[in-house]
Amino acid sequence: MLFHLRQLLKDAAGIEYLKVVDPYDTKNMIKTIKDAAAYVNDPDGGIAVIISRHPCVIGFKDEAIPQKIEVSVSEECDDCGFCHMRFECPAMYRDKETQKTQINNTLCARCGVCLQVCPRDAIEKV
Ligand code: SF4
Ligand code: SF4
Repeated sequence: MLFHLRQLLKDAAGIEYLKVVDPYDTKNMIKTIKDAAAYVNDPDGGIAVIISRHPCVIGFKDEAIPQKIEVSVSEECDDCGFCHMRFECPAMYRDKETQKTQINNTLCARCGVCLQVCPRDAIEKV
């Protein structure tokens, strides 16, 4: 049976705070999570629901990544490790020999999301 989760949550569960966010838009995603946390902690707030929605990169590559973006790690990288340890894109890793952060171009889906992630802006478009 086809049903709309958003409508069900609003009508049946009475959820008033409900946002649908594209997780590839990391700035908006982080803002929405902060807004939801504030709503939950507000005495006049309540339950907050965030639906994180983006087409599957494996099953729907063209829809998921309509514009392919080539990226590389620049000299600005100080190997803080944030991108591969916290962001956890499988294409990003620290090379064991050089101890430098690198991108595996075979695994990279060219989504460009990492451009929004590095705190030093050390990932750049090629
Ligand atoms: S987050 Fe940026 S500075 Fe840190 S390891 Fe990754 S590319 Fe380098
Ligand atoms: S472009 Fe996408 S898949 Fe490639 S390294 Fe960046 S986040 Fe990972």
